Amino acid sequence: MAFLKFEDIDKSFGENNVISKFNLEVEKGKFIVLLGPSGCGKSTLLRMIAGLEKIDYGKILLENNLLNNLLPSKRQIAMVFQSYALYPHMNVFENISFGLKSERITKDQIKEKVIEAAKILKIEDLLDRRPKELSGGQRQRVAIGRAITRNPKLFLFDEPLSNLDAALRSEMRVEISKLHKKLKSNIVYVTHDQIEAMTLADKIVIMNKGKIEQFGSPEDIYNNPNNVFVAEFIGNPKMNIFTIKTEDIVNTNTFKLFNREIKFENFNFKDVLYVGIRPEDISLENKSEYGAEINVDLIENLGSEKILYSRLNGSEIRIKSAKNIKDKNITIYFQKNKIYLFDSNKNRLKSS
Ligand code: ADP
Ligand code: MG
Repeated sequence: MAFLKFEDIDKSFGENNVISKFNLEVEKGKFIVLLGPSGCGKSTLLRMIAGLEKIDYGKILLENNLLNNLLPSKRQIAMVFQSYALYPHMNVFENISFGLKSERITKDQIKEKVIEAAKILKIEDLLDRRPKELSGGQRQRVAIGRAITRNPKLFLFDEPLSNLDAALRSEMRVEISKLHKKLKSNIVYVTHDQIEAMTLADKIVIMNKGKIEQFGSPEDIYNNPNNVFVAEFIGNPKMNIFTIKTEDIVNTNTFKLFNREIKFENFNFKDVLYVGIRPEDISLENKSEYGAEINVDLIENLGSEKILYSRLNGSEIRIKSAKNIKDKNITIYFQKNKIYLFDSNKNRLKSS
């Protein structure tokens, strides 16, 4: 039995169809990340799970129970927002315990739960403070603390780290990951940040325009992207995509890339092809029979590695390298087994 299940979900705002035919099954105990560009429907989907947004069509089931018509308060789901949503006039203790007052438990039990959550989140010393006396990271911990005390079946996070600066974001990323391991909680986490998705997720749902482009583990999505959208969305800098026009197709299993013939047994090329090579899979030293001479236009120095930008046959090409280059005229090499092939519809080409 799936822990969380989406069946044919559809959602529109007026004429704007935001989610369409969304189907997904999630196992228990997993950290699921919804990743996609801004406006693709991630928050809407999360809000439908929480009960903050009506579902037009389809079903959402949590442990086989239909959520559609349940009140948000009856769903046993806790949501953490990007904006923290703390009450400014309440101190940290009151903010964390806020949702517990409606439950039939004693003051001592409330105190115990709040202190337990505060310990996990390392904010025990801050319980008397008001939100305005806290840093962004501390506020986010309070918001997470409030979710933890409710002991929900499912945690929903909507871009919880987007308001934090880079250093704090990576620190909180580690904290959230530890929290998941410790509590063995079920999490659906929304972000547009591929690094958060790659580092936190057991499974990533790549979304585009209200649809799923791919559902898989971070490794799988990086190594086996279904299509050009996913291939370009994961990886930084993004994958190089070169167009192979029909005149560059030599025969059914050979095409020309940068004037070199490349043969792939078990393929059947007819139409336009898209060829993908990741910037990290292009090498300056690791010589192969597939090379090309380029003139480097720009070098971005990231310290441990450099990003080289150039143009080749009219396309921009990005290369990730640890090597210092002196001459701007260089030869780059790539390996045949690191080439991704996509058909004219930009879907991954399957061998015949
Ligand atoms: P994401 O979280 O992926 O950035 P959203 O789910 O917030 O995307 O929004 C998806 C689309 O739905 C956007 O086009 C947005 O403008 C629209 N939308 C979201 N909420 C509403 C609303 N309450 N009323 C009308 N349109 C909305
Ligand atoms: Mg959003």
